Parts: sequence; C-alpha cells; structure tokens
Amino acid sequence: MATINTLILVCLGYVIFLFAVAFAADRMAAAGRGKWLRSPLIYTLSLSIYCTAWTFYGAVGNAARSGLEFVTIYLGPTLVMVSWWWGLRKLVRVGRSQRVTSIADLLSSRYGKSNTLAVCVTVLAVLGGTPYIALQLQSITLSFSIFAEADPSGLYREGSSVFWMAAGLAVFAILFGTRNLDVNERHHGVVTAIAVEAVVKLFALIAVGVFVVWGIAGGVGPMMERIDASEIGQWNVDAGRWTTFIFLSAAAFICLPRMFQVMVVENDDESHLRTAAWAFPLYLLLMSLFVVPIAVVGLDLLPEGANPDLFVLTVPLSQGNDWLAMLSFIGGFSSATSMVIVSAMALSTMVSNHVVMPIWLNTHEGTGSVSGDVRSIVLVARRVSIAVIMALGYFYYRLSGGGAALASIGLIAFAGISQILPALVGGLFWRGATRTGALVGLSVGFALWIYTLLLPGMGAPWMPDAVMQNGPFGLAWLRPHALFGIEGIDPMVHTVMWSLSLNTIAFCIASLLSFPSPLERLQGAQFVNVFDHSVSPGGWSGSVAQSEDLMIMTQRILGAAPAQEFFQAEAEKQGGRSHMPEPTPGFLNRLERELSGSVGTATAHAMIAQIVGGSSVSVEDLLAVADESAQLLEYSGKLEEKSSELSRTARQLREANTKLTQISEQKDSFLSQVSHELRTPMTSIRAFSEIMRDTEGLSREEQTRYAAIIHDEALRLTRLLDDLLDLSVLENGQVNLNLSDESLRSVLDRAVSSALAGAERKITVRRTLTAERMSLHTDLDRLGQVFINLISNAQKYCDAEEPVLVISAHDVGGRVIIDFIDNGSGIPPGARSMVFEKFARVGVDKAGGAGLGLAICREIMQRLGGEITYLTGQGGAAFRVSLPLAFQQAAQ
Ligand code: ADP
Repeated sequence: MATINTLILVCLGYVIFLFAVAFAADRMAAAGRGKWLRSPLIYTLSLSIYCTAWTFYGAVGNAARSGLEFVTIYLGPTLVMVSWWWGLRKLVRVGRSQRVTSIADLLSSRYGKSNTLAVCVTVLAVLGGTPYIALQLQSITLSFSIFAEADPSGLYREGSSVFWMAAGLAVFAILFGTRNLDVNERHHGVVTAIAVEAVVKLFALIAVGVFVVWGIAGGVGPMMERIDASEIGQWNVDAGRWTTFIFLSAAAFICLPRMFQVMVVENDDESHLRTAAWAFPLYLLLMSLFVVPIAVVGLDLLPEGANPDLFVLTVPLSQGNDWLAMLSFIGGFSSATSMVIVSAMALSTMVSNHVVMPIWLNTHEGTGSVSGDVRSIVLVARRVSIAVIMALGYFYYRLSGGGAALASIGLIAFAGISQILPALVGGLFWRGATRTGALVGLSVGFALWIYTLLLPGMGAPWMPDAVMQNGPFGLAWLRPHALFGIEGIDPMVHTVMWSLSLNTIAFCIASLLSFPSPLERLQGAQFVNVFDHSVSPGGWSGSVAQSEDLMIMTQRILGAAPAQEFFQAEAEKQGGRSHMPEPTPGFLNRLERELSGSVGTATAHAMIAQIVGGSSVSVEDLLAVADESAQLLEYSGKLEEKSSELSRTARQLREANTKLTQISEQKDSFLSQVSHELRTPMTSIRAFSEIMRDTEGLSREEQTRYAAIIHDEALRLTRLLDDLLDLSVLENGQVNLNLSDESLRSVLDRAVSSALAGAERKITVRRTLTAERMSLHTDLDRLGQVFINLISNAQKYCDAEEPVLVISAHDVGGRVIIDFIDNGSGIPPGARSMVFEKFARVGVDKAGGAGLGLAICREIMQRLGGEITYLTGQGGAAFRVSLPLAFQQAAQ
C-alpha cells in the first residue's frame, strides 16, 4: 500500500505543477503567444468545473444508493447545452457587451444598475456557495482518511491538513484570479489550470472504470450481466424526482456563480459555445460512463456499510492497485480544487464589487477621487474577499463536523442558486421585467428555500420538530415539508416546485405592477435586443444614422471646424459618396483616438459606446472616467484659480487707474479753482495800484479808498492762502493735535464772540447754556475753528429778515452733538451733498468766501474722531457736529 506520505508528496507535486501551468499560461497570454489558450477546447474543458468532487465521488455513491437517478445531474446541463445553446449565446453576448463581472453584476446591470439586487444575489450565492466549498474540503479529507487509515504513522493530520489546503487554494485563487481588474482580460492561468484538471479527473475516472470493467468484471459482457443482476440496473424512475433534478441541475448550470464565471466572464469568443454545445455533453457522457459499473462492482466487492461515496477510491485499493487509487485520488482532488478556486474567485468578485466597495466608497467619500487609488483598493478587497470566503468554507466544514450533513449540500445549494433563474431568464427575454419584480421574486424564492429546505436540513434548533410536525403557531398548512397542506411529496421536489413557481409568479406580478426607471428600460432594451444592439466582438460598428450623433458630439468636444474637417476627411477616405462617413469600425476607432486626446480614452470610449450602443459602461470604465475627470477638474480648478487671480489683479489695476484719473482730474480742477480764486483779488490789486501809480492828482480821499480796496483784497488773498495751507496740512494728515480740557460752553463762547466781532448787522445767537456744561477733552482750538466757521456762515448767508442762529447741544453715549440751525432759506437739496467739497459755493456768493470753510470743517472733524453733517427738515440751514467727549487715539 502506498504510504500516506507518498500521497502527500504526489499531491504537493501536483499542486506545484498546477501553479506552473497557470503561471506559464499567464506569461504566454501576456506575451501574446499561445493561441490555443483561447481555443474552444480549453473553453469546453473549463466548463467541467460543473463536475466537482461531489459529482466525481458522489455520482457513484448516488448510483449505489438510488440507482440511475444520478444521471439527472448530467442530463440537466446536457439539455441546456444542446437545446438552449442560443439562450446561452445571448447570455454570453450580454455579458460581454455589458462587461459584467459576475452573475450579481449581470442582474444588477439589467435591472437599472441596482445594487440592492446585486447584494441579494451575492448573499444568496455566498450562502449557497460556502457549504459547497466545505463539501469539497470534506471530500478531500475523506479521501485522505482512506489512505491515512491504512497508514496511521503518516504525516497526515486531519485538522491542520484541511487548513493548509484551504490556505493553499486561497493563495492560488489570489495569485491567478486577481492579477488585474480589467474584466476584458481573461484569467488565462486559472482557466488553463482548470482545463488540465478537467483532463486529469476524466482520465482518472475512466482509468478506474476501465480497470473495473476489464480488470475486475472481465469485460463488457460479464459487466452487463452484473449490472442486470444488481438493483441499480432496475429502471426505477420516479418521474417527479427526475424532472425536478433535471430541471434543477439545468438551472444551476446556468445560475451557479462559478459556471457564470467560466461560461460568460472568461469567454473569449462567442463561437466557442458552438463547440461546447456538443463537446461538453460528450465530456459529461464520458464522466458518467463508468459510474454504474463502479457502483455495481463496489457494492459486490466491498463489505456492507462501506461508504459508496468513496468506491472510486476503495475499489482499486481493495484490489491492491495503489497507483490507480492514487490517480483516482488526484482526480477527486482536481475536481475539488478547481471548483474551490473558481468559486472563490467568482464569489469574491461579487462580495468586493457589491458589498465591500460600496461601503468603502461611502465611508471614504471624496478621498478616492484618483482611480489609481480606488483600483488598488478594489484589488485588495477582492483578495481579502477570497481569503474570507475560503475561511468561511473552512469554518463551515469544521463546525458541521464534516459529517453526513454535508452530503446533501450539493442539491440544496442547487435549489438555492436556481432562485435566480426567473429574474435572469426574464431579464434576458422580457422587456417588461422590472427591478421590483426581480427583488420580490428573489425574496419569495429565497425565503421559501430557507424555510422548506435549508433550515429543515439543519434540524433543531434551527427548525424545531414541533414546527416540522404541526407548522409554525400550529398552522398546519405552513409545515415546511407540506406547504398549503399538500403532503407526501419528496422534500426536494416540494421545495423546487413551490419556491420556483411562487418566485416566478411573484416576479411576473410585481413586474407588471411596478414601473421601470428610465435606466431600467434602457438596460432592458439592450439586454432583450442584444443581438440588434451589440457590436461584433473586438471592434465597433454602427448605423449611418449614428454618424450624425457622433458628429454633434465631436463638434462639442473638438469644436465645429476641426470636427467637420475630420468627418470630411473620413468620408473622402471611404469613397466620398456622402459628406458623412459610415461608422465603420476603422472610422470609429480613429474617432475614439481623436477624441481621446481631448477627453481621455475612457471617456471617449464610453461616449462613442453610448451613441453606437455597442457596449455599456462598466465599473472600470467609470473609474477611469472618474479619474480623467478628476484630473481635468483639478487642472481646470487650477486654471480657474489663476484666471480669477488675474481678474482680481486686473480689477485692482482698473480701480487704481480710475482713482489716479480722478485724483488727476481733481488736481486739475483744484489748480484751476485756485488760480481763479487768486486771480480775482490779484486783478483788483493790480488795477487799483496801477491807477494810484499812473494817475496824477488823485485826491486824498480817492487814494485812501483805493488803498483800502488793495488792503482788503490782500487780506482776502492772505485768508485764501491760509485756508489752502490749512486744508493741505489737514488732508495730508500732518496735523498735530493739541489736546486739552474745557467745557463746551467756554469753547462756544469764544467762537461766537470771535465770529461776530466786527460784523455790522449781528445775527441773534440762541443757546441753552445749561446743556453746554459737559467738559470736552480734545483739540479745542480746532473745534473752535469749526464752530467759528459755522457761526460766521450763518452770519454771512442767513437771509432772514431777523436772522437767528440756534445752537443746541446734548450728549449721547459718550458723544456730544451740537446743532447749528438758522432761520434762513438754507441750502437747496441738490447742493447739500456738495457743500463740504472744496471751493463749493451755492448760488452767487455775495460774501466772497472761497468755498473752503466747510471742507476744512469736515477734515478737522474727521481728525477729531467726529463728523459734520447737514441736517434736513429744519427750516433753515442746519449743520450737526458730533464728536466723542474725550478724544481717543484710535479714532484718528
Ligand atoms: P466759504 O468759505 O466760502 O464760506 P463754505 O465752505 O463755508 O464756504 O460754504 C460753502 C457754501 O455753502 C457757501 O458758499 C454758502 O453758499 C453755503 N452756506 C454755508 N453755510 C450756509 C448757511 N448757514 N446758510 C446758507 N448757505 C450756507
């Protein structure tokens, strides 16, 4: 007997060989060599992951227990391949044109890119897939244990060996299944390794079969006799179970995530299906050819109670044919590992794309704008998901104790996963199918599957006996194995019948009652009419009508003239029959390149795809588009920043320029005003001094009069120059304030007497002396100057018959307010805002002022931290002076 250690060595060697095959295939594909990697044969062989360890060992066990029923598991896929290959072709076409990554992605894409639906399918797939992975681990353990029993001294330890096996498979799936993200890039390594395993397991089973028929039974004739003599040979067909199982395996063949992975995602060329349509049934036929002989001989040879699930191993062993047993072991090992690897890949894609990534994107909103970043996250998510799924499978195996409970898992998983069928087939062929319909149907089917099959299979406490016997809350019509009171049906048939029919009915009714979103309708049309819409694989194509749309889009991107030029040139290239080129693949590819320069390749591809309807946008496309737009946005953001900075500078320059112009204008008008003001007194001084010089015999009286005029004018000049000087000092801020304390009353007393001194007809000044008691701390001379100006203005300009000036004062919150209101006709409204400007005079100035007084007042008040304003609605001219009681430096 071969030792267990030899077996472990052979196993390790086989795994290393698989790694090498996968590695070499990946290298060849990357280098563009190895056309055979994409041959229909490899595709067909990769489909063989349908035959897991459960079929490799289990078919014989099944035959030993229930006769020919095992055939149903092979008949289902055969029927699909032979009679429904056109449906599969549609599935593959949709998968490629929509660039789907998994069956969850396909459903989500069909039903308006709904992630809820994707999550549902993912949960369903993981729930059904994990025990299935556990089942593979169990089969490997069981087969190991056969050898270990005979050689207990070997290296093999059940617990740790399973763990290392699971870890090794995870590493394989991670290494070869997540090399890159692009779904267009196939996993040639994995697929080739699986094809090799397909050959190995077929060869192993046939070798055992040949040994049994010719080595043990002694040829075909005696074998047939043995079969006829055994119970298996009896044609015992339970029509209900047969139909159900055929249907179930057909449905699972279409819906299983791992089958979808190899059949649709890894498909290189639709035409491969044509070969697979006959070659795969042939493969299944060969796989099932020797099942019955092995079972019959096993039952004959081996003692009662021997596990028929292991006959493939134990029959050669019992005959001392160790090497054949080892080959058979490798066959079973191959079936298990290939299934586990592809399942882990398919499930991890779903988990990472529909569960991990949405959560990650939600929690990291805004930070993942660069897709390079997101891409590496997706890869990490996929790798972690593979590890987690393998870990789940491993723990399920440990927890379930690896016992007989696992044996029925295969069919239970089939029944669970086939709940996807109505939504899938409906989505492919019925435009009216809606997301709500799919969700409702799936939930109904899923719930029934859990209630009638999964939980009862797990027994108490998951499903208490009381519920099984009498139904929940004593409702007999809800008993898990006799829904609606229909009893006596096989549990599996019962579940499949109720769950799938109610699932389909719910799906149809909810679809009819709900209204699809625009995206759903669009996707629905693309799926159902995929053969009208989609492109032939590998390139673009489109109809002439689309050229105009393309033209419009191109104009928007490149600008009108370059776009027209490009289209013109293309049309000429095509023979120039019309001004619009036909959207041939060549043209579309060139257009894509042309547009790529402006908007990036991904965006260009997505935009053209939208118009020619070739393929819709995948997650990867969107990530790439997002990346490009993020860069564009960043770039345009920078440009915007620059341009707003420039416009800010330009505005500042404009403002400075206007200010300078204003200042220059002010200076000009100021100079002309000043020269005008100077010229008037100068002219009279010159005139009268000339008269005095040149006229002889002027009387004394005349001389005195003229000299007085000259004196007055000179005084006026001096005053004007004084004022100008004062104003320029104030305006330049070169004033030194002379702060001191005194009561307002004293300041006003001095101002009144000084303003009225020497006047002929004095204005009456009314004051409320008690109100002027407050003490001021400020530059009192400057404040007095303001008061004098206001009082003398009233004296000069008040035109009332009996001129009166009322000066009233009061203090509010640390400030004092002094109003000067006379009873003259005041200043007309239009001139009020102007009187504080330099040289501003209202009407004909009888008093001969230069119009600088109020301007000086305004400057002084500003220096003192106060202000002077004109008060409206007071009858006569009214000015209000307000200032802080105590001067504060900050107010300056
Ligand atoms: P000026 O130094 O020539 O007196 P102001 O700047 O003090 O000039 O005053 C400007 C103009 O405001 C004066 O020409 C006068 O027409 C008008 N004005 C000032 N105060 C009064 C007033 N109390 N009543 C009527 N008009 C006044």
